Amino acid sequence: MIFIDRQEVISKLPEGWQAKAKTVTDALLAADGLAARKKIIGENEELWRSIKGVLAKVGHQKCWYCEASEVRSDNAVDHFRPKGRVSGEVHDGYWWLAFDVKNYRFACTFCNSRRHGDGGTTGGKADHFPLAAGSLRADGPLVPISVEIPLLLDPCDYVDTTAVWFDETGQVKVNPAVEAVEENVSLRVSISRTLYHLDHVRLIEARKRVFLEVLQMCDRADEALAAYKTTQNSTARNLFHESINALKRMKKEDSPYSAVAKCAVRGYRGSSPSAKLIAEAS
Ligand SMILES: [Zn+2]
Repeated sequence: MIFIDRQEVISKLPEGWQAKAKTVTDALLAADGLAARKKIIGENEELWRSIKGVLAKVGHQKCWYCEASEVRSDNAVDHFRPKGRVSGEVHDGYWWLAFDVKNYRFACTFCNSRRHGDGGTTGGKADHFPLAAGSLRADGPLVPISVEIPLLLDPCDYVDTTAVWFDETGQVKVNPAVEAVEENVSLRVSISRTLYHLDHVRLIEARKRVFLEVLQMCDRADEALAAYKTTQNSTARNLFHESINALKRMKKEDSPYSAVAKCAVRGYRGSSPSAKLIAEAS
């Protein structure tokens, strides 16, 4: 999971979009009853669909939850707080946020919808929005959502994005550094793993490949560095520098599974001088 800055999304909205969203939201607030609200939401779905490209671009064409590329997936605009109902709760959904851009997340089918994976896993967020034990829940537009302590990790919250850690197994783990300072981190990672379907076999395999590629590139850089130190050979020096460039590229947020690459570099920095250089250089 990489951090998505909502301010960047807002700055890229088409001219007039926010005004249209406000008009529809005002109509929702004035509507009489659930059926009237559902009708308004249904008639205006195009409003959030029209900015799918903006959300995709800010997330480098990758799902905000799992970093899977959208190349062959018809990704959707997910309402982080579900707009129609909340699974397991007596709640009409966060309908007043249906046209609030801050509630939108760009999501792949596996993260967004209930689906079975080919390795026997099941996941997908759908209408789920669990809260921490004891947390209040906003049940209408008069209650600010800030009263809530969500259990799902949010890609628009930097601390949340750092809670997930990856290792050579490709599995989702808890970042111990975050666990030491934040409540509920293990539970939140566990629930997010299930509801975002982050243990989908194809995702795990893709992460393992990236992790391994990073370690191999670090080894190549280390060997080139050792050869250069011994021989002062310019070819070895160039290979070292190019390998470091490649590692830097793998960590860039527009690269595949860049969060995995970051974890791989950090995890390898005790063994590899090149990983240490990349992890600690600004
Ligand atoms: Zn996804």
